[in-house]
Amino acid sequence: MGTESTSRSGISRRSFLTGAALTGVAAAGASLVGCSPSSSTSKSESTSNADVIDSASPSWLGAEPEIAESDITKTEETDFLVIGAGTAGMCAAGTAAELGMNFILAEKNDKVPETREYLGIVNSKAALAQGGEVDSMKLLNELTRYASGKCNQDVIKVWIDESAELFDWIDPKMQAVGKQVVVDMPADHETGGTDYMLPVLQHVWLTPYSEPMRNDVLLSLVQEKSPESVHFGYELVKLVHEDGKVMGAIFNTSEGYVQINAKNTLLATGGYPANPVMMNALQPAAVGCCTASSFNPADNGTGLKAGIWAGGVKDPDAAPMIFDRGAVEVGVDCGYVGEGDDAAFPGTIYQENIGSQPFMKVNRNGVRFANESAPYDTFCFQAGQQPGGVWCQIFDGNASEDIIRFSTIGCSAFANQMMAAGMPVEEFVATSRDAGFLKKADTIEELADMLGFEGEAKTNFLEQVDRYNQQFDAQVDDDYGKEAYRLSAIRTAPFYGLWFGGTLLTTIDGLRINGDCQVLDINGAPIEGLYAAGDVSGSFFSGNYPEYIVGVASGRSSTQGRHVARKLAGDL
Ligand SMILES: Cc1cc2nc3c(=O)[nH]c(=O)nc-3n(C[C@H](O)[C@H](O)[C@H](O)COP(=O)(O)OP(=O)(O)OC[C@H]3O[C@@H](n4cnc5c(N)ncnc54)[C@H](O)[C@@H]3O)c2cc1C
Repeated sequence: MGTESTSRSGISRRSFLTGAALTGVAAAGASLVGCSPSSSTSKSESTSNADVIDSASPSWLGAEPEIAESDITKTEETDFLVIGAGTAGMCAAGTAAELGMNFILAEKNDKVPETREYLGIVNSKAALAQGGEVDSMKLLNELTRYASGKCNQDVIKVWIDESAELFDWIDPKMQAVGKQVVVDMPADHETGGTDYMLPVLQHVWLTPYSEPMRNDVLLSLVQEKSPESVHFGYELVKLVHEDGKVMGAIFNTSEGYVQINAKNTLLATGGYPANPVMMNALQPAAVGCCTASSFNPADNGTGLKAGIWAGGVKDPDAAPMIFDRGAVEVGVDCGYVGEGDDAAFPGTIYQENIGSQPFMKVNRNGVRFANESAPYDTFCFQAGQQPGGVWCQIFDGNASEDIIRFSTIGCSAFANQMMAAGMPVEEFVATSRDAGFLKKADTIEELADMLGFEGEAKTNFLEQVDRYNQQFDAQVDDDYGKEAYRLSAIRTAPFYGLWFGGTLLTTIDGLRINGDCQVLDINGAPIEGLYAAGDVSGSFFSGNYPEYIVGVASGRSSTQGRHVARKLAGDL
């Protein structure tokens, strides 16, 4: 091992570059990118961030594309370049438009993406009016616990402190198009086998359930105030940077390469869920517990790579957003099918909502293995350690009553609402039913056969159902500690079973930022001219998505986008 002082991340450049077997560097590099040299590295040994990445470049990162000046067909100038017209980018652009900034919004598609409707806002007027006050400091520390401390509390605080102002900004715009906000109050009961915090955060403008949605409203605002600012069909290729300073970006467009010179650039390009090479390298646990894709196919990590090429540092540990809803046919395993860029999850169902209900769930051996009452991804990660990574959910003819009693929160509560409105459970799972994935039988034995349990697994499964029924009768889960009200009997025909894996929605680890969303370099210093908001940014989550902090992903992305625009406009 080398003797140099260790860097902020505890990894010295010498030990990293020479102490490790060079063959191991490529593999290790995935998690070490941008984490090696310390500010204490002596001048003679110092190396640029680009050199370090070159030395340790993980294969998923690749080299920054080289584009000759002669290949640039057009150059434009702006004060503020927003790249990506999603949750974060639209709040940045909407704010910039309203504040009269000189800006360009560059988006690779020809429209804004689908709006993510569950917006997490802390202590909005609407929430306070209905008694939904949140203890901000408790929330801050809860999020820090979810991230195992691998976050920046100043970054989290921007969402906690400024999302109520975001609500004040956005709600009148939604009201103006006839939309009323609904603030969801979590049911007044414990959730999960431990004491999770269930803050009142969830704001939705789905009343009435019709166009326009939030992103459409913001796009109209931008188009009305500054129509020339919106550039659809602009795909980021790389940032323009020199000597640690970012000065714009180069885009692939229908007119060839266009360079936009900007005083400040905001990356709002989302995560990297659509990049299987990055997923395999950075998120093996997520890949190992997913059967299905529910992500924006545009979000392929180009923005994150561009940020690293320009000197930014990525969170060393990954964080995926996974929901427990990837319904599949009997025998399908989690993980990608295919190789490299062509790898894809096998599932054809994007999200089967009932997967989030805490019914009895068993593995391929026919046995339970974990408490089913937990945040969506917790059960997926546990299933990822079981054969094939999948699990089977069992329910019976009383499923509607059970779902109403389970009273789950977040978007899984859609099931409670539909059951309360009288929708038959088979209609609720019509996608899986019509695909033939939902198995329905008059007896448990018959169901076991249809679900593929054979031999010992079938014996286990039948015993497991008996045991679960006894636990329901006793109102005690003495195997995994699920709350009594989330136990259910499996005695009333028809009996149903459906196999699941996780479904990948997005990734939420990214470029390290400070509270103002400035991208940080290897020494923790802000890179001049470069900001990141939303899923391309990091410093907020680690390892998991805290689903019980409902809407925090959209909430932080929106708040960050608005924060950057306000900051640059001198409005903060
Ligand atoms: C189906 C689904 C439902 C969800 N529901 C919720 C919810 O209800 N509440 C919640 O809190 N979170 C939800 N999430 C998560 C949430 O969507 C994200 O955390 C959030 O949208 C991130 O915002 P963003 O702006 O970073 O990314 P996005 O909203 O994904 O926007 C990224 C934009 O960048 C563009 N882009 C990508 N690459 C390039 C490029 N190279 N050049 C130019 N443009 C590019 C994309 O086309 C896209 O428009 C959901 C996610 C999914 C997939």
